[in-house]
Amino acid sequence: AAGPARGLFLENVARHFSGVKAVDGVTVRLAPGETLALVGPNGAGKSTLLQLATGVDRITSGRIWLDGRRIDGLSAERIARLGVGRSFQTSRVFPALTVWQSTLLGVQARLLRGTGSRMANPLHEIAGALLGLKGWRQREAEQEAIVRDTLQLFGDRLWPRRDQPAYTLSYANRRRLEIARVLAARPDYLLLDEPAAGMNPTETAELTDLVLELRRLRPALGILVVEHKLSLVRRVADRVMVLNHGRMLAEGTPEAALDHPEVVEAYLGR
Ligand code: ADP
Ligand code: MG
Repeated sequence: AAGPARGLFLENVARHFSGVKAVDGVTVRLAPGETLALVGPNGAGKSTLLQLATGVDRITSGRIWLDGRRIDGLSAERIARLGVGRSFQTSRVFPALTVWQSTLLGVQARLLRGTGSRMANPLHEIAGALLGLKGWRQREAEQEAIVRDTLQLFGDRLWPRRDQPAYTLSYANRRRLEIARVLAARPDYLLLDEPAAGMNPTETAELTDLVLELRRLRPALGILVVEHKLSLVRRVADRVMVLNHGRMLAEGTPEAALDHPEVVEAYLGR
């Protein structure tokens, strides 16, 4: 058997924690170029689903495919190198690194992609540097260009602060930096866990614009966004899936999925 040729495909996946069915038989397909929103009340299993898709946590049952290839069982590092990038619900940027350095780490994660063990071996890195200083310099310039382009996606939020350590940034800027770091690795699939959590309406609107801009700049990127802020969901999503108690409650266009009577009841509590 094989998964779809393209896409991140979670096939009937479950994750049970001694009795708690956090995810209980869910099928999700994220196609290239698509923006899919995953919504649902707290405890619905949204973050767990992202942990499974990125190899941070293991499925109890089911299968996960990336562009036709089985990836459940692979390490989180491996899955990241295969092109699945994700941000966490709480920011994980290193406080002492500058905005520039954090983003450069993301670029370097990307350089490890595709080239597999050769690039991952530091001896080969050093040998490469000794053999071709020109190539090395060129690569450095390429990396810097990616850092710059990525930071400039965020308007004047991150670029003017590129030499500041992350700990000096506002909460919203730390969250932006987290996304920048993931984007710098040029993933094929981008998974965002509540990127607008804790953001005010202006910041949320800005983030919405960023996602729309990303869709324009990287038309092949598949985006899966877990988000409570339905204003963002309605503007960016092609499709919405509603999760409740580890199960899929509804799926469809933002209008169809979010206005479904059962969803209104389960999710909005009315
Ligand atoms: P959401 O992100 O939708 O709010 P989560 O995926 O974080 O939900 O959690 C889904 C359910 O799984 C919750 O009941 C949560 O308590 C439980 N859960 C998540 N992670 C673990 C874990 N590591 N051990 C035990 N229970 C967990
Ligand atoms: Mg969560």
